[in-house]
Amino acid sequence: MLANTQITKTIALEKYGIRNATAHYQLSPEELQEATIEKGQGVETKSGALAVNTGEFTGRSPKDRFIVKDEITQDDVWWSDINIPFDAGKFDALYEKVTDYLSEKEIYVRDSFAGADEKYRMNIRVINEYPWSNMFAYNMFLRPEKEELETFKEEWLVVNAPGFEADPEVDGTRQHNFAILNFKKKIALIGGTGYTGEIKKGIFSALNFILPTQKDTLPMHCSANVGDDDDTAIFFGLSGTGKTTLSADPSRKLIGDDEHGWTRENKVFNFEGGCYAKVINLTEENEPDIYRAIRPGAILENVILDEKGDVDFGDTSITPNTRVSYPIHHIDNIRNPSVGENPKNIFFLTADAFGVLPPISKLTPGQAAYHFISGYTAKVAGTEAGIDEPVPSFSACFGAPFMPLHPTRYAEMLSEKMKESNVNVWLVNTGWTGGPYGVGSRMKLKYTRAMINSALRGDLEEVSFEQHPVFGLAMPTECKNVPSEVLNPRSTWQDRKAYDKKAHTLAKSFNDNFRKYEKMANEEILSGGPKI
Ligand code: ATP
Ligand code: MN
Repeated sequence: MLANTQITKTIALEKYGIRNATAHYQLSPEELQEATIEKGQGVETKSGALAVNTGEFTGRSPKDRFIVKDEITQDDVWWSDINIPFDAGKFDALYEKVTDYLSEKEIYVRDSFAGADEKYRMNIRVINEYPWSNMFAYNMFLRPEKEELETFKEEWLVVNAPGFEADPEVDGTRQHNFAILNFKKKIALIGGTGYTGEIKKGIFSALNFILPTQKDTLPMHCSANVGDDDDTAIFFGLSGTGKTTLSADPSRKLIGDDEHGWTRENKVFNFEGGCYAKVINLTEENEPDIYRAIRPGAILENVILDEKGDVDFGDTSITPNTRVSYPIHHIDNIRNPSVGENPKNIFFLTADAFGVLPPISKLTPGQAAYHFISGYTAKVAGTEAGIDEPVPSFSACFGAPFMPLHPTRYAEMLSEKMKESNVNVWLVNTGWTGGPYGVGSRMKLKYTRAMINSALRGDLEEVSFEQHPVFGLAMPTECKNVPSEVLNPRSTWQDRKAYDKKAHTLAKSFNDNFRKYEKMANEEILSGGPKI
């Protein structure tokens, strides 16, 4: 058994209903890595990083994410198939079963923070069944100083038991796994899944309710970085659109890669203390910062190793969603603390697999609101099962699964902030060019980076723009280090008629999706949609 060499503190777990457990408090990442390997739950890769398999679940399970319906949540939460209500009594019963399950076990306890701006900080205690899940919490949440631990008072509790299985009939869950938020008890209860992303997105969802309703702060599913002139840029986008990849830019200081708040003092702060990057097809050449962050302390998930212990980043035989988590200081150029000034540029990232949207365009305030509420990207169906038609996917605020309130509440806050701060808003298609998925190809990362850098430098102020015939978006006609023909998607397709047809089909999907928001949108926002 491992001795806790760092901090000695007796944690009374009985108050949580956990009895006679052997609790390891605040172990170092080295100790947790050793414990993981000792238990046969992971191996060390050649780079010194830890590699684990998360088990049955290699991604989040949005259909099993619930919110306890009580007097705090009932009127404010936008109840839907995204925010699924859970009975308070059922929660108490299930909580007791989970804590019973953890009793007598060897468990891992960690105190940490969310929120790099002290004014908006949340104190979190995480209780994990597995050492590597606790190491994930070390990587992803903010790490308190020794003195801060002495007076630490937990506010929210994460109870994480991947090995526990619910009985849907009795427990009120959909199946054996669940992630349930209880705002009254301030508990995130996660069971039946070892996917670590549930831990970070659980706390994210909690903050996405608390910050706007109690602290007048806009929570955002975005990455952020800052240039030499203190100019902050934020990058919204759904999974796989490039938040993590594009925010890691050696010429700019990284604030964070996924979750931020925009405060009433007009600062942007990271909720987290680490990054969680996709590693599918990762190369040192394309993504040097992320590649080099994979060293002792990093946790790789669901990757395949060769006999020498090297990772094969091209191997997706477990899942295409292979990941690595690491503390933010594994990136060289970071802003510390992770707080930036008022944003100057906002990028909406989309991976349009239809090859319709321009690789970069500048949005009017109406278009910005329209595209934020729409939250468009495309899902490339059947990544494994051969070529299939991509499907449009709309997720309000570029993060609906984590947003407990109605999307218009976040959209209104964002519109107000954008107006106040006179920010530029860009739509960037990191998806397909030259045709749809199957015909065209993904936009070259170096072109996307060049376009973003031109926007950030202000170079695109100097060039002329043309208007997209269907989407009404302003497309620059030239951009340094990008061939001009790439800038207008229509000119990259061999069959222009096919392009026009696809553009209309996509525009129709946008219109169909937006219908449910029409009643709440004003003229300006409605004018931001496609013109068909
Ligand atoms: P999540 O919310 O799941 O963390 P994310 O928005 O952070 O998703 P990334 O992890 O940055 O998404 O994933 C983008 C993926 O797309 C990476 O694997 C990256 O290598 C790849 N990619 C290919 N071409 C581009 C491009 N032009 N721009 C951005 N990413 C690209
Ligand atoms: Mn990311």
